[in-house]
Amino acid sequence: MSPLDEYKKKRRFGSTPEPPPESKRSGSGCSFVVQKHRASHLHYDFRMEHDGVLKSWAIPKGPSLDPAVKRLAMAVEDHPVDYSSFEGIIPEGEYGGGTVMVWDRGTYAVEGPDDVATALDKGDLKFTLHGTKLKGSWVLVRTRNRQWLLIKHRDRYASSNDDITATAPTSVITGRKLADIAADEGGDVEKAASGDQPPPAPPPGKRSAPSATRAARSSRTKKP
Ligand code: MN
Repeated sequence: MSPLDEYKKKRRFGSTPEPPPESKRSGSGCSFVVQKHRASHLHYDFRMEHDGVLKSWAIPKGPSLDPAVKRLAMAVEDHPVDYSSFEGIIPEGEYGGGTVMVWDRGTYAVEGPDDVATALDKGDLKFTLHGTKLKGSWVLVRTRNRQWLLIKHRDRYASSNDDITATAPTSVITGRKLADIAADEGGDVEKAASGDQPPPAPPPGKRSAPSATRAARSSRTKKP
């Protein structure tokens, strides 16, 4: 029984461009990646290299820099280490069909006293990220079964007003949005675009339509 058996069983490697189920070590041995994935639902896949594979969690809302915010992280099957450079299209009808972006990437260091295996076993893994977007101290804590929470620790990289998924929405390796990736690589552009963050502010210059102003004025004059 290999740790990548579940990964292998879920995929048809003649049909998906995802990397084959091979265990290996990256150059650093401690890589991490966050992939933005517009499949049936938008989510962010958080993966940390351990023992020749990427331990993986699917985070529906993505990471938050706010230490007061706990983000649900569902443990999913281990992925091959080479998955950290996969950005592209999984064909519709295949497992996870949709557009995948390398949203952040780098290395991590486990924060003692336990090693990664022991910490995963206990369901309490503390680590420091050295990514482009994600930095500093974090914890993954298991609440039950496959359900974990990803939480930012308080440090100089924490922020309660920077929504990092909205302010840094593009690929860290190619600068593309999901829709760009879909357009470049023959994916479903409309579906991919729905995963790109909409502008946070409402359109400017729509504060009061003339009819609304007239209605307000006339209701004032009719007051008894
Ligand atoms: Mn995914």
